[in-house]
Amino acid sequence: MNKKQAHVTLVRAAEGFQHDDELPRGFDWRGFDAYLFDIDGTLANFRDQVHYEAYCNAIQSIYGHPISLEGLAVNGSTDRLILLEALLRAGIPEKDVRASIPGIADFMCTEVERRAAELRPELCPAVPRLLEELKQNGKRLGVASGNLERIGRAKLKSAGLDEYFEFAAFCGTHETRTQIFQSALEAAHKKLGKKAKVCFVGDTPADVLAAKGCGAPVIAVATGIFSLVELGKEGPDMCIPACETLWRYSRL
Ligand SMILES: [Mg+2]
Repeated sequence: MNKKQAHVTLVRAAEGFQHDDELPRGFDWRGFDAYLFDIDGTLANFRDQVHYEAYCNAIQSIYGHPISLEGLAVNGSTDRLILLEALLRAGIPEKDVRASIPGIADFMCTEVERRAAELRPELCPAVPRLLEELKQNGKRLGVASGNLERIGRAKLKSAGLDEYFEFAAFCGTHETRTQIFQSALEAAHKKLGKKAKVCFVGDTPADVLAAKGCGAPVIAVATGIFSLVELGKEGPDMCIPACETLWRYSRL
């Protein structure tokens, strides 16, 4: 079976999963030493506007007028890239944009922290059970997120998940998702040794591509805005509707 055919099989199996016991085989999702989770859409969906409004208010504060984020691909992007794209699209020279990003980022973080009580996390199905079980089995857990660090940590705390994770990489000095994933992978290897087997878990095609860019396996969960078919096209090692599906695979 060539690579393309393998992907088609994976997508079909994932699409039909809820109605068909014929599951994709061969991927041992329990066989890793560490798991690195994306936050938005993977661990939780945030049913509030706090993060979005922080962008708008920060830009307004620095530039004195609103700049729209409308139409930008925010899911699977990073806070720095979203800012960069929005400001460049508004015609601001790149040199000025890059000079203003640290101030905007700091404003955003402060605003999200100040409004943390307004965050409305909706945990993705079976996430607490999965984290608990992995931890009890001696697995090590980390976060790889396109959020600015203070924002990502505020979200984890509001979701009651911050205690599970011992290493993390966020969008800070890193701009692209692949850079963030690489940094998270290095943090895991630094802690656990170079031979440690690490798997990413994400909810966007960008997560799949970033993990592959680091040469790491990835489980894609369709708990964000992307469907199994959209996720499957990028060739994740496993593509499932939600984390709760994982236990079905453990019976194979
Ligand atoms: Mg996500």
